[in-house]
Order: sequence, then C-alpha cells, then structure tokens
Amino acid sequence: MRLTLKTFQLLSALAFLNLAIAQSDSIKHIQNTPKKVKNVILMIGDGTGLAQWSAAQATIPQKLQVFSLAQYLGLSMTSSSNDYITDSGAGATAFSIGQKTYNGAIGVTKDTHPEFTLSERLHVKGKATGLVSTCGLTHATPASFYAHQPSRKLDKQIANDFYGGFIDVAIGGGLKFFDTAKLRESGHKVYVGHSNLDQINDNHFVSFYDTNEHPPKFLNGRGDFERKASMAAIRNLNQNKNGFFLMIEGSQIDWGGHENDSNYVISEVMDFDSTIAEVINWAKIDGETLVIITADHETGGLSLIGYDKKNNKPAMHFSTGHHSGIPVPVFAYGPGSELFAGVYENTEIHDKILQLLQMSKKD
Ligand SMILES: [Zn+2]
Repeated sequence: MRLTLKTFQLLSALAFLNLAIAQSDSIKHIQNTPKKVKNVILMIGDGTGLAQWSAAQATIPQKLQVFSLAQYLGLSMTSSSNDYITDSGAGATAFSIGQKTYNGAIGVTKDTHPEFTLSERLHVKGKATGLVSTCGLTHATPASFYAHQPSRKLDKQIANDFYGGFIDVAIGGGLKFFDTAKLRESGHKVYVGHSNLDQINDNHFVSFYDTNEHPPKFLNGRGDFERKASMAAIRNLNQNKNGFFLMIEGSQIDWGGHENDSNYVISEVMDFDSTIAEVINWAKIDGETLVIITADHETGGLSLIGYDKKNNKPAMHFSTGHHSGIPVPVFAYGPGSELFAGVYENTEIHDKILQLLQMSKKD
C-alpha cells in the first residue's frame, strides 16, 4: 500500500499518541510510587470488628477519627492454623511472624518452632522497636511480638524472653511477671506509675501502669493513658535515625466483648479512636510513617439490631462470649497505605509491612 501523506500523518499521530500515553503512564507510575516508609505503627484493636466500630460511631454526631483519617480500607481473614476461630495468640503471631499458627501459640510456628518476629527482624535492620498495651505486657498480643513460647499461659517464661530481647520501649501492665533487676540488666530503665509518661526521655525503658496485672478499664479511671503511652513511645522511638516499629494494642475492647458489655466495648473503642487520631496526626506531620489499624479477630459476635434512643447507643446483641470468625477491617494511613486495600489473610499484613520496608522473609 502506498503510504499517502494522510496515512503517514495518521500513523505519526498514533505513534505520538502511544508515546504520550507511555510517557504519561510512566509519569503516573512515578507519582504513584509511595514515599519511602521509615516508621511503621501497627495498631491492634483486640476484638474490634465492624460492629464494634459502628456501635461507637452511632454514639457521636461526628465521624470516628479512624473513619475520617484512614486512606485505605481492607479486610483481614483471621482464622488460625487449627481453628476457624482464632485466639489472640495465633492472631497476633500471624502479624508478627507472617504464618498461621495454632491457638495459644506465642511467636512460634504451628510446629512450635520459634520464628523471628517483625520486631526482631526490624531491630536487626536498625529500627527501634516498641510496644504499648492497655493490658499486661505478657498478655498474648504484646507477647507475640517478642516471645517464643508454646503457650500463652506461660507468663513467667514469656517475660523471660523479654530480657536481652529486641524491644527498646514497652508501656503497659504486668509488672508482677517481670523481674525489674533483670530488666535493668538488659539495659532498660524501669518506671512504675503512669503519671510521668510525658517526661520520659530514654531509648530503652519499660513503663508499668502500676503494680497490678492490667491497667484498669477506661470506665474505671484509666484516663488518657493509652494516648499518652502511645505518644511517649513514639517520641522516644523517633530518636532513632533509622526509624521505628511500634505495636499499639487497644486490649480491652476484646474484654468488653467477652463480657457482652456494650458500654465497656464502646468506651474502649472510643479511647482507641482518640489514640488513633493523635497517632495519625503525628504521622501526617512526619510524612514517612505508615499507620495500620486492624484487629486480630472480632469478639462477641456482635450485631446492631436497633437504636436505643434513651441511652444514645445502638441496641447491641452479642451472639457469643467468645471470638467470631468474621473478617475484620484494616484501615491504613500514610506511604504504602494503598497496599492494604483488598481482602486478604491476616498473615499478609506482615508480608506487606516487610515488602514496604524492602525486606523479605529471608532477611
Ligand atoms: Zn479475646
């Protein structure tokens, strides 16, 4: 076919268009490449399913902070290796080691082999590591980030795994299971009492709420401990120039669910939500911090079956005193947060964090 001027012009125009598309694609690609993730904050609302979030939402006129600040939403499927219904040991271990394990396991595989946790891997890579919890620090969720024990019931052995371990900063309860001399030997300053969290200025410390096993319920006077503890951890961990990994647990949302106590659940979710607001606002200014907010599982099989106008809260029906198998929401904010959109297994939260830090399970 003779190339007429017209077809030539048409072909050149098409070539130009293709080039332009290719160029704009690559520009788009560059624009979409997330800023480097320096810090990761994983916030676990123990036992917080969509119904728990929604119940708290229904008690206030403005949007929950997590609903308005998060940029991406996903769903995490929570089953453990041996049960459709997970416990908090297997649930947190799925996040910390990236493998499904049996209920009750703490930082070990389904064959009870110790496996490196996120905190350990990231510590080795030069990140500072921290834990904040509104329950005892040997309880299943925080324990799964530093201990390797076949059972969550082994509090003393779990505490033993803390000494000489990889956690720089820990704030929570559970003093009775720890030997403060051993904590000091392992390089941690020890604080007891929660009133001076603002003043702590230290790279390595453990701060206990008081001498009891767990901090009290929010409704029984825990005050702004969760927020203050989270910000104290962030302020101190952020001194590390290579960044940090922090796990924050809103522990007692789960306990409200176990007790089928609607006010307990709502107050703990609200406290967690106000902590989320402060954490994300800090991350916003920082610009290099990824914040992930999720749950290990839902607790109580909660459904919202009407509205109780007199008490300004939904009519809440719990179908079990235990956990349920429904997937839980994952909210994400910051660089790399788009990776958390979609529906996936709980173990993938671990994998996505490693991916964003340009690490693999072999690192
Ligand atoms: Zn539970």
